[in-house]
Amino acid sequence: MANNEDLFKKIISHSKEYGYIFPSSEIYDGMAAVYDYGQYGVELKNNIKQYWWKSMVQMHDNIVGIDSSIFMHPKIWKASGHVDAFNDPLIDNKDSKKRYRADVLIEDHIAKIEDKIEKEVLKAEKRFGDSFNKEEFVSTNQRVLDNQAKIDDISSRFADLMNAENLEGVKLLIEELGIVCPISGTKNWTDVRQFNLMFSTKMGSLSEDTNIVYLRPETAQGIFVNFLNVQKSGRMKIPFGIAQIGKAFRNEIVARQFIFRMREFEQMEMQFFVRPGEELKWFEHWKETRMKWHLSLGIPKTEYRFHDHEKLAHYANAATDIEFRFPFGFKELEGIHSRGDFDLKQHQEFSGKKIQYFDPELKENYTPYVVETSIGLDRTFLAVLSHAYTEQTLEDGTIRTVLNLPKVLCPIKAAILPLVKKDNMPEKAKEIEKMLRSDFMVQYDEKDAIGKRYRRQDAIGTPYCITVDTQTLEDNTVTIRERDTMHQDRIPISDLTNYIHKGIRPLA
Ligand code: ATP
Repeated sequence: MANNEDLFKKIISHSKEYGYIFPSSEIYDGMAAVYDYGQYGVELKNNIKQYWWKSMVQMHDNIVGIDSSIFMHPKIWKASGHVDAFNDPLIDNKDSKKRYRADVLIEDHIAKIEDKIEKEVLKAEKRFGDSFNKEEFVSTNQRVLDNQAKIDDISSRFADLMNAENLEGVKLLIEELGIVCPISGTKNWTDVRQFNLMFSTKMGSLSEDTNIVYLRPETAQGIFVNFLNVQKSGRMKIPFGIAQIGKAFRNEIVARQFIFRMREFEQMEMQFFVRPGEELKWFEHWKETRMKWHLSLGIPKTEYRFHDHEKLAHYANAATDIEFRFPFGFKELEGIHSRGDFDLKQHQEFSGKKIQYFDPELKENYTPYVVETSIGLDRTFLAVLSHAYTEQTLEDGTIRTVLNLPKVLCPIKAAILPLVKKDNMPEKAKEIEKMLRSDFMVQYDEKDAIGKRYRRQDAIGTPYCITVDTQTLEDNTVTIRERDTMHQDRIPISDLTNYIHKGIRPLA
């Protein structure tokens, strides 16, 4: 298997070659950190949205959705803290002139120490075989303990420095850790500065400062400012949630790693409003529920982990990330935060409107507390795509490239293929295509030899290939080939719809 960097490059070029993701404005030489989704990409993306929406909104009688606008009153971003504090600490290397996020440099440094621990564990696993007890090993092996202590020390020192807004201290920490620029290899760093990530533009024809509006950097604020509207019009009772899927914009300093970090991206967020004092119970509930959602896609547990935050916002009392093992290591995929009553209180203060809830059971008014789940749609896309990309050596020595995507998310659910382009097979195949089209995204393909057509469908991740052959014309049965095992069943045409429905059903 290729190393991870090669693998990542292959995934990127496969995405382009097979119509999943194109660089934006490519014929004008592209734009950094902006991408377009192609004909299969948009299907996969829509399916992820639907899968999330169904589990969060449709399956909960106390969660409803909204679709708020991207432009909002500029005061909202003052109230939320984004105007004053939505910053990333940036640092330049004077030799390469490359710009980095100071926190990312430190995170990458920590990831290298984590790699050392993982290597130590793998070595021991090999040595001890079946009798290996990982938990015991990591809690007793001195080298692992030393490295873990280093990680804990760096994390907590960095968190303290950021909490104290001590940027000089952050620079000193980078120097002390011996972090070098990956391009120049030197430690010749500038001071650390804060950089606001919001894009601004002007609304209307006057070019006064008062007309400045921002492209929203998160979808959450659209939910908070509609809290009363939804609560009153929907007669919602606490605890209840409001969900939203939509675009967000951030002027990311370092925008690398394909669709992992973009300047225009999509979020799927849910704000869950609860009684004050019950927030930690709900935080645990959503932690567990969201992890279950990820696992229901059939990707193994080992590819996910929780990462509890060291540095909490002053108003938050718990926060964790669900991290995924991307080709470039474990990174944040989703955030779950217990945010207290900060957001609603801020909007109450800045708008001058009372934002409270009357609890009929307690017979009192209060500002609800919030637990939020916030997941990147594009990062989920990258997670499922990179996990799905497989190069398989077959018995005859040839290599098959296949996307083992979770079937429920696949862009095309079935391809209908006449074995040959004659003897009424195309007509029969088209009849089947017509029959299936109202239930599933399907594709008809008659070009090239059947083996080549199977490979094409494997490359876009189609779970089922239905082949019409001579026998079909005699007894109305077809072969149906499953993508992962390449196993073929012969079944009546009339069973196809059920067969596919069953096959693409998620685990839970
Ligand atoms: P990071 O630390 O990676 O910058 P974040 O902690 O700022 O992310 P949040 O503000 O918690 O991210 O946003 C919630 C989710 O939105 C993230 O978990 C991620 O999946 C997604 N997300 C955030 N920024 C981007 C981006 N620039 N491109 C794509 N997805 C993003």
